[in-house]
Amino acid sequence: MAREYSMDRRAYLRTVGAAGASAAIAGCLGGSGGGDDVIVPGTASGFPPFEFTENGELVGFDVDLAEEVIDRAGYEVGDWVDVEFDTLIPSLNEGDIDLVAAAMTITEDRDETIDFSDPYYEANQAVLVQEGGDFNPSSVEDLEGNRVGAQSGTTGEDEVQALIDEGIVSESDYRQYDNYTLAVQDLENGNVDAIVIDIPVANNFADSRSVEIAFEIETGEEYGLGMREDDDRLSDVNDALAEIEEDGTYDDLVSEWFE
Ligand code: GLN
Repeated sequence: MAREYSMDRRAYLRTVGAAGASAAIAGCLGGSGGGDDVIVPGTASGFPPFEFTENGELVGFDVDLAEEVIDRAGYEVGDWVDVEFDTLIPSLNEGDIDLVAAAMTITEDRDETIDFSDPYYEANQAVLVQEGGDFNPSSVEDLEGNRVGAQSGTTGEDEVQALIDEGIVSESDYRQYDNYTLAVQDLENGNVDAIVIDIPVANNFADSRSVEIAFEIETGEEYGLGMREDDDRLSDVNDALAEIEEDGTYDDLVSEWFE
């Protein structure tokens, strides 16, 4: 199975980690994450099933996908860096990481400061509410007068901002979170009335927590892996992604993490 394969390889990387790290430092005076042969992946966990921690280990669809892509592209997978979502692009541009694998939507704004791989996943936004609660909105208009939350720096936040601009949600009712796990906790505890979040992750939380999807907001967004604009390894990454989609590895990962 793909998952076992990647976990085996993680274990392998741990054992060669020390030697690999000094080799990377020796080959890296320019300040990028690793040497040219190493791609250091970065993510923001707490976004299941794309990236989350399980028994202290970072796992998920993006984790397996990125490791497989980096490997097939002919590079070594560096040690994962796990930061808050809105820190990922600065971390990438500062060279702390070389690749963002964080269910990150390809947007025009982001495309101005980083490059994206070809799209690898499609999603819409969803509105999450308390399971079995009194608040059951069926459209964005129903959010009027309620407290609405999202994670800082996300396309979910963009949707809330649009509702604020339209005068549907008031600015003071916006609840901004460092990560969606905290937002879902606040929703369960009744400290916020609704959360705007990517639908695949909303589904995952609805299965595992006391929350449910009230309705969907169609955004038609596409996720891409992020790399620095001057990193010419992106074409190898795109080739690897295409190969994984063609040979069925991609579908295996989807059935492993989404079914
Ligand atoms: N897809 C959303 C975005 O890019 C959310 C990503 C996330 O929270 N990891 O903004």
